Amino acid sequence: MRVAFFSTQTYDRTFFDRLNSSHGHELIWFDTHLNQKTAALAAGAEAVCVFVNDTLDASTLETLSALGVRFVALRCAGFNNVDLPAAAGLGMTVVRVPEYSPYAVAEHAVALILALNRRIPRAYNRVRDGNFKLDGLMGFDLHGKTVGVVGTGKIGAIFARIMLGFGCRVLAVDPYPDLTLKSDLEAAGSGYAELAQVFAESDVLSLHCPLNKHTHHLIDAAAFGTSKSTLMLVNTSRGALVDTTALIQALKQGRIGSVALDVYEEEAELFFADHSASLIQDDEFMRLLTFPNVLITAHQAFFTEEAVESIATITLQNMSDLQDRGKCSNEVVAS
Ligand code: NAD
Repeated sequence: MRVAFFSTQTYDRTFFDRLNSSHGHELIWFDTHLNQKTAALAAGAEAVCVFVNDTLDASTLETLSALGVRFVALRCAGFNNVDLPAAAGLGMTVVRVPEYSPYAVAEHAVALILALNRRIPRAYNRVRDGNFKLDGLMGFDLHGKTVGVVGTGKIGAIFARIMLGFGCRVLAVDPYPDLTLKSDLEAAGSGYAELAQVFAESDVLSLHCPLNKHTHHLIDAAAFGTSKSTLMLVNTSRGALVDTTALIQALKQGRIGSVALDVYEEEAELFFADHSASLIQDDEFMRLLTFPNVLITAHQAFFTEEAVESIATITLQNMSDLQDRGKCSNEVVAS
């Protein structure tokens, strides 16, 4: 299969080229994001392979379809950036990697919590600067704190179990609770609850639900009005779960304790690229960077050796399944 890859990084090429030897697909590499303006680059390809910040709206999909592209292979789990009804209407098949390493993302959420709570970036810089004072570095014990988990699918369930291991009380919310997790939570004095209770009681709140029309700006000004003023908010899921404007207001007014973000609403123009020698024009992002109680990583939660290898392995197999059988168990259909 001839496949046009968009938004590619060096590590994509390294892993895909190595693992493709047993599949023999023709892989064509583009650094640029896929969108309406760049879709023409896919001319001659049967499939496009895309990542989290590519835009597969109706007009992009129409252009791809007119060029003869029949398959969209997402090399990620989330599919909020694809207009699935439009793809279905054009007879295009969309496949994804539903699970590659949920541990990678859950563990990164924990890394953010520990680094933010214990002020590790500040402490690291201070010690390197010969400043060994502890003022401003005080954290809190996680043991005994209430950790809210929004979404207990593959990643959220692992995250919840890790936090149980810290001795936290876990309050989870999910329209489809994981029954094994539920009994484990209850055995540990934790459990599932309604979103309002989770907002109100959490000391740490970690987001692990998908972005869709129901969850867009799930954390908004109203949510900050009901949560503790000391709340630590952690988002490793998708940026638009959090209303950034409301978050900045909450930070300015001291209505939230601290924030760790691996994803950002407007990350598409920023993340996965080096802007260190240019002026960043996103004023909200730059404002977020000014708060001492905000820690941001650039969508790296998935970025472990195991996860990237698994993404390449499953994506190449998805392409082979589509080529050989015309169907694939990892197809995403509009609900
Ligand atoms: P999953 O589908 O296994 O789990 C998602 C869970 O969220 C499901 O149990 C679902 O019932 C629940 N849910 C849906 N709507 C909800 C709502 N309104 N409130 C509470 N729960 C709700 O997905 P996953 O593999 O655990 O991934 C979770 C998210 O993590 C993905 O959607 C993706 O956006 C994000 N992700 C981020 C990275 C990263 O590198 N930062 C990597 C992979 C995935």
